[in-house]
Amino acid sequence: MTTINRPFINIAKPLIAEEEKRAVLEVMDSGMLAQGPRTEAFEKAFAEYIGVKHAVAVNSGTAALIVALQAHGVGPGDEVITSPFSFIATATSIIACGAKPVFVDVDPFDLNLDPNRVEDAITDATKAIMPVHIFGHPARMTEIAEICEDNGLALVEDAAQAHGTEQDGRRAGSWGSGCFSFYPTKNMTTGEGGIVTTNDDEVARMSRIIRHHGQERRYYHEYFGLNWRITDLASAIGLVQLGHLESWNEARIANAAALSAAITAVETPKVREGARHVFHQYTVRVTGDRDAFQARLQEAGVGSAIHYPVPIHQQPIIRQLGFGEADVPVAEAAAQAVLSLPVHPSLSPDEVAYIADTVNRVA
Ligand SMILES: *Cc1c(COP(=O)(O)O)cnc(C)c1O
Repeated sequence: MTTINRPFINIAKPLIAEEEKRAVLEVMDSGMLAQGPRTEAFEKAFAEYIGVKHAVAVNSGTAALIVALQAHGVGPGDEVITSPFSFIATATSIIACGAKPVFVDVDPFDLNLDPNRVEDAITDATKAIMPVHIFGHPARMTEIAEICEDNGLALVEDAAQAHGTEQDGRRAGSWGSGCFSFYPTKNMTTGEGGIVTTNDDEVARMSRIIRHHGQERRYYHEYFGLNWRITDLASAIGLVQLGHLESWNEARIANAAALSAAITAVETPKVREGARHVFHQYTVRVTGDRDAFQARLQEAGVGSAIHYPVPIHQQPIIRQLGFGEADVPVAEAAAQAVLSLPVHPSLSPDEVAYIADTVNRVA
């Protein structure tokens, strides 16, 4: 076995350069620290990037989900159909609105909400469908949007991993109301931050109100809102990052292509025809002892992570709250098999080759 004389390859690496630092210093010098002109500029630029009329920036991806759901009128007594194979915030945002998450199984192809199973889960209480574009691969949005249309349901996309994801040339976050996260590991970051994208004037108006304590006029509170505002410091970082997003996405896509061309020992991620997968995560599926495989990768200097080891309906708090009932064998099996490998834009071609070789060698 070759000795490792290379730096450990981390699963994620936020890219922050001088430009971001300068942008933050400018905001500090301006004295406008809270939501202000940079946020307005960031919202305009992000809406344009996604191809929608409005974007409303907030202080996390979780906040974006809560604000969008409430802006669509989701509240106590309502049900929201979503994927169990996601990060916990997909479901806790629904619960935070007083509504019930209803878990429908995923498609084994892309591990996204299976549209063929959605209609059976619709009841009189269903208010919205929330697909997740897991790992940056688009959910089957044409079919899901049609189901929403036919049944008069709101469509809220958890696009927290999908900055630049497309289906048939249309970006994630433009089918319904999109909710993005700018957490440091995402395809672009603002430190903490999030944004709601929408073409719906009323959803945009309500999102702005809900973000700001439910007021349109200062100190007159007509709606239920909290403080979900982003800082101008974060928005200034976001403006710079957005300018790099496409080149970073292209680097992720190229890294993923190189990995998939070279990896033979495990099942590599698939991309549906017409889909643009932006590889927030490059997630393989392994048979056999995943923990031992992960330990051997670590030993060889390759970071990895399990997204996600437990499907949402089986999480202790979700069971405790009474939302654990779900018939989702595909999601349960996926949780046992998935393993994410480094795919981030700062990997060198040599590192990408080393990751693939190592996977093949230690699998
Ligand atoms: C990151 C993430 C969120 C939450 O975003 P935060 O900015 O961390 O609050 C929600 N859903 C999914 C699928 C995510 O990956």
